[in-house]
Amino acid sequence: MHHGFREHIRACRARGAAVPAFTAYDLATATGVVTAAERAGVPVILLVSPSTAATRYGHGLVRSLRALADASSAPVAVQLDHATDLALIRDTVEAGAHAVLADGSREGYQANLDFVRAVRRQLDDDVIVEAELGRIDGNEDVARSTDGHGAALTDPDEAARFADATGVDLLAVSVGNVHGFYRGVPVLDLERLAKIAAATDVPLVLHGASGLPSDVVTAAIDIGVCKINVNTELRRTVFAHLEEATPAHAVGLDLDSLLAGWTEATAVTAAETIASFRGDHRPATHSGAAPTHRS
Ligand SMILES: [Zn+2]
Repeated sequence: MHHGFREHIRACRARGAAVPAFTAYDLATATGVVTAAERAGVPVILLVSPSTAATRYGHGLVRSLRALADASSAPVAVQLDHATDLALIRDTVEAGAHAVLADGSREGYQANLDFVRAVRRQLDDDVIVEAELGRIDGNEDVARSTDGHGAALTDPDEAARFADATGVDLLAVSVGNVHGFYRGVPVLDLERLAKIAAATDVPLVLHGASGLPSDVVTAAIDIGVCKINVNTELRRTVFAHLEEATPAHAVGLDLDSLLAGWTEATAVTAAETIASFRGDHRPATHSGAAPTHRS
């Protein structure tokens, strides 16, 4: 679906919901996410981490995710997450990604801006470009607890200038959110988030929502966050499924059933995330696939 995924994001914001973006390391998980999106009738994003994209199977995975997106009855976009390498961005978009996070947040303001502009110039207009301003602490791919002290919070005025100067479609903010696990009780600076939302019209993105209380997440959505990245929940689900299901399936070396269970387990977790981002609040008159298989 190359289509206007930008419109799906704006439509979500208009009805007070956020598009969930799930990291997909493999096709079984991605199929679970897409299944959940189809059951709920909502848009989702499949994220590919740059370390996955750079593996021997990275290109093939992106192609497979794109095929999955094209075949889905729900709007699905494939996005390269946290990319710092222009060549990897080009290759991944060529393989079928609809969107990229051009992440220059580890550099200074100007270097970040220059990088995002360079990425924007390289890509076709229909490719969605997300940027990150401020720095989100923690590791996206490995869950380690962090206190967020490696983070730099997003400045509202800078965010407005950055969005104007780059013309980005989405802006990821740092307001106390971290990747991985939170050490202690996470505190989001909702006041800062509200100032950012007031300073710019660019749709805002929250990374590292795993472990945030649901009322904090909905408060962030109410303020204007309309895309939320999640990763840890699905990985936890996969490991729990493998631990529980492997002994029974190992007897017959039944990999098909093990993977089918993997897909269903991730679909159930993804459905919970979709619901917590208000993704299941559809008008009662809306036609389409009803969420009849939720379990
Ligand atoms: Zn992230």
